[in-house]
Amino acid sequence: MKRFENLIGGEKCPAASGKWLRSLDPYRNEDWCEIPDSDEVDVDRAVEAARDAFQSDAWRSLTPTARGALLRRVGDLIAENAERLAELEVRDNGKLLSEMLAQLKYIPQWYYYFGGLADKIEGGVLPIDKADHFVYTNWEPLGVIAAITAWNSPLLLLTWKLAPGLAAGNTFVIKPSEFASASTLAFADLFEEAGFPAGVVNVLTGTGRGAGQRLVSHPDVAKVAFTGSEATGRAISSSAGANLKHATLELGGKSANIVFADADLQAAAAGVASGIFAATGQTCMAGSRLLVQREVYEEFLQAICTIAEGIKLGNPVDPDTQMGPVANAPHYQKVLGMISQAMDDGAELAYGGNPHTDASGGLFIQPTVFRDVSNESRLAQEEIFGPVLAVIPFDTEEDAIAIANGTPFGLAAGVWTTNMSRTFRISQKLKSGTVWVNTYRALSYIAPFGGMKASGLGRESGQEMIKSYMQTKTVWINNSTEAVTNPFIMRLS
Ligand code: NAD
Repeated sequence: MKRFENLIGGEKCPAASGKWLRSLDPYRNEDWCEIPDSDEVDVDRAVEAARDAFQSDAWRSLTPTARGALLRRVGDLIAENAERLAELEVRDNGKLLSEMLAQLKYIPQWYYYFGGLADKIEGGVLPIDKADHFVYTNWEPLGVIAAITAWNSPLLLLTWKLAPGLAAGNTFVIKPSEFASASTLAFADLFEEAGFPAGVVNVLTGTGRGAGQRLVSHPDVAKVAFTGSEATGRAISSSAGANLKHATLELGGKSANIVFADADLQAAAAGVASGIFAATGQTCMAGSRLLVQREVYEEFLQAICTIAEGIKLGNPVDPDTQMGPVANAPHYQKVLGMISQAMDDGAELAYGGNPHTDASGGLFIQPTVFRDVSNESRLAQEEIFGPVLAVIPFDTEEDAIAIANGTPFGLAAGVWTTNMSRTFRISQKLKSGTVWVNTYRALSYIAPFGGMKASGLGRESGQEMIKSYMQTKTVWINNSTEAVTNPFIMRLS
C-alpha cells in the first residue's frame, strides 16, 4: 500500500510513534494508502521547526518582494503538477476529477494574487498630536500559523490560508483531514522546490484528537486558521480564546436558494442542482434548502426531480460522471442516517432517499429531494453535507427572507429573479457572508468568502484578508532634546 510521510523542517518522516492511519478510496470502497498517525511529539517538532524558520535569517531577511516571487514560483509549480495532485484528491475523497482538476488549475491564482500583494502592505506616518514626536506604524507577520482543513477540497481550503499567510511572512504547520491527507502531503513538497526555506511549510497528518488538539493549543502557535464543522469550530474557538490566539473559522452552512416566480426557471433549476448535487452535496456552500414561490412551486419541484433522476453516478474520473460517491464511510452512514431520521420525522420524499449500488461497491447515495419541508424541522436546520435537498414553499419576499435567515447558519444564499430592485433589497436583508444572484457556487481569489452567525468568524480571499495574518506595530520616536516634563503622569500633550 502506498505511504505518504509528514514534512517537518524540510525532512520527510513517519510519525515518531511509527503508527499509520489508512485512507479509503470511496469509489472502490477499499483502503488505498497510509498516512502518519501523528501525536503530540510530532506536533511539538513541527511547531518548533516552524518557529525556528520564522526566526531564521533565511526567511526573515527575504524582502516582501522576494517572498512574492516565491509565491508566484509555487503557483507555477502547482499549475505544472495540477493533474497529479487532482488525481490524488479524487482517490482520497471521491469527488469528480473534472471538478478537482478545475480547482487545481485555478488555485495558482491565489499565489499570484497574494504574491503580488506581499510588497503592497504599507504602514503609515501618523500626524501625531505631540510636538517633536515622529510616530509610524508597520504591519508585521503573526508567527506560526496552524492550518487545519476539511476533507472536501483539501488543497483549495489550504490555499485560502497559505497564500495570504506566507505572503504576510508567517510560517505554517498544516494538519489536513485524516480522511483526505495525501494531496496535502504531496503538495507540500512544491514549496521547497520553489525555494521556500525548510521549515516554512510543515505538514503532519493525524486525527483531530491525536494531533489537532495539541496543535491548536500549542503555546508557540499564534493563529489557528480552520475549516471544518461547526462543532469542531466551537471547540477550536474555545481553545484559541483560552490561549489568546487569533483564529479564523470557516464552518458549515444550510444555505437557501430562493427562486421567485419571475425567475428564468430553466437557469434557476440548473443553478439549484449545481448548489446541492455537485460534489455530492459535500460543500460548505451547498444550497441545501430550496425556497420556491408558491405560483411556480409544483412546476419547479418537478424540474428539480427530473434533473435528480437523470444524474449519472459513477467513477469520479469518468468525464461523463456527474456525481461521485460520498467521501468516507462514517460520513456515508451519517448522511443515510439523517435521511432516515427525516423520514421518521414525517418528511415527504419527492425523489431518491436510498443508497445507490453499482459494481464498484462505492459509497453512493441517490440525489435526494424532500418536499414541503418545515423550516423548523431538523432536515431544514442541520447541515447534512450530502446530496439532500429540502424544498420549502413561500408566498412573499418577506416570507422568503425570514425563512432564509431562519437557521443558525449564514454562509451563503442564492437568489433567482429578474426583478433588479428586488435583487438589491433582498441582498441587504439576507444574513449570509455571500449572496449570489442568478448564479451559484462562484468563487474568486478577489472576493472575500466566509460566514455570518454559526458559519464562522473572519473571511478568506480578497485583499483585506492578508491583514488577518498580520498585526500592526506603532513606533514612537521622540526628537526633542528636552527632558521629560513630569515622569509621574502619562504623556498626553
Ligand atoms: P471536522 O470538523 O470533523 O474536521 C475538520 C478538521 O478538524 C480535520 O482536519 C480534523 O482532524 C480536525 N479536528 C477535529 N477535531 C479537532 C479538534 N478538537 N482540534 C483540532 N482539530 C480538530 O470537519 P470535516 O468533516 O472534515 O469537514 C466538513 C465540514 O467542513 C462541514 O461542516 C463543512 O461545511 C465545513 N466546510 C466549511 C468550509 C468553509 O469555507 N466555510 C469549506 C469546506 C468545508
